[in-house]
Amino acid sequence: MPARRLQSHTKILLGLLSGAAFGLLASYLGFSGFVLAYIKPIGTAFVRLIGMVVVPLVFASLLVGTTSLKDIRSLGRIGIKTIVFYIATTALAISVGLALANLMQPGAGLPPETKQKLIESAAAKQDYVAGLTVERPSITDLLVNIIPTNPIRSFAEANMLQIIFFSLLCGVCLMLIPPARSRPVIAFFAAINEMIVKMVHLIMQIAPYGVFALIAAVVADFGFGILVMLLKYSMVVLLGLLVHMLVVYSASLKILGKAGVARFFRGIRPAQLVAFSSSSSAATLPVTIECVTENLGVPSSVGSFTLPLGATINMDGTALYQGVATMFLAQLYGMPLDFGQQLTVVLTATLASIGTAGVPGVGIVMLAIVLNAAGVPLQGIGIILGVDRILDMCRTVVNVTGDAVCAVVVASTEGQRAGAAAPELANRELQTAAPEVQTSDEL
Ligand code: ASP
Repeated sequence: MPARRLQSHTKILLGLLSGAAFGLLASYLGFSGFVLAYIKPIGTAFVRLIGMVVVPLVFASLLVGTTSLKDIRSLGRIGIKTIVFYIATTALAISVGLALANLMQPGAGLPPETKQKLIESAAAKQDYVAGLTVERPSITDLLVNIIPTNPIRSFAEANMLQIIFFSLLCGVCLMLIPPARSRPVIAFFAAINEMIVKMVHLIMQIAPYGVFALIAAVVADFGFGILVMLLKYSMVVLLGLLVHMLVVYSASLKILGKAGVARFFRGIRPAQLVAFSSSSSAATLPVTIECVTENLGVPSSVGSFTLPLGATINMDGTALYQGVATMFLAQLYGMPLDFGQQLTVVLTATLASIGTAGVPGVGIVMLAIVLNAAGVPLQGIGIILGVDRILDMCRTVVNVTGDAVCAVVVASTEGQRAGAAAPELANRELQTAAPEVQTSDEL
């Protein structure tokens, strides 16, 4: 059994590497069209399959998770811890990005002809830029809109915050009515939950092929020329993401979560691979929930709350990227930002990342708000659009990892994290788990 698990986990990684190689080959040998027409749909089908289970999974697992909490008060405590953790790590992420951009100055000192080419390349993207909104999301609107006017519409539109609100309320009310009445309802949704988890297991069996197709299509379609011109900027974003992941997350896991860092990263790897290839934290959500609850010992009462919320509002990678992008463009346009303006960037990027949906490419759309607040020309978005997909893949990995770190930290501080997966879960055919994680009692 452990050998099989390891094998299927490695298969996803192999899918990713061979997909990248195949995509490169396609772009050099000139059959990118074939990849986009016939291989890409396999990846799209995979993303749709995991996307399909998001809404029922969140509703059922959150409802059942809430009813398994000892008391309603702990719900409030978990909520506050989660939100404070999310906002603090997001602000830290932007600060890491800004610090690196100040230090490495990616937009200053570019050869004049490169600068000219970049500015010209932006001119071709002005239609795209013209369609962007620059209004800062209002906190009151955000809060009021959490309440659904019609829960069925929230489900149909996959409005995650509204679904979370409604599911929590259902769970709380089930705790408030006589157990004889609530028991059958909870049992019903517990069975639905189990059914959906089984579905995720089945879907994950085709993950290596899905990941292969997604990566092959991205690589085949990617303009490598632009990457060279924006190499320093891309490197600063990637370095920032790495620093945030290795320093901020590792420290949070160790200090706040009392958790083993290496084991955490092993346990979350399948979700990271899917996040990387799909560029969508929302689509990755079922895999994240599976990794966190089954590999990392987080109970579903915590995981089913923190993770859907995180996939919607917690985007550390996106926020960091928005900070670096703003600094880069300001340097490129020769208008460096002072400390006050950089503070505005921290505040606005935190808000903008909360408002960013967990789907591909939204981070750059919301960047318009940050640029506007910092007084940097919006046309700059056209300059960095060419490398956005690759950076999107990487920032999505950080977005998803940040949610998982929060789930582990909150569960630990609540004294609710099991050292090993629950026996009934360990017996399940978990195709994506690293074997050591399943049996760990050091986590
Ligand atoms: N693709 C990112 C995510 O889903 C959002 C973004 O930064 O575009 O997490």
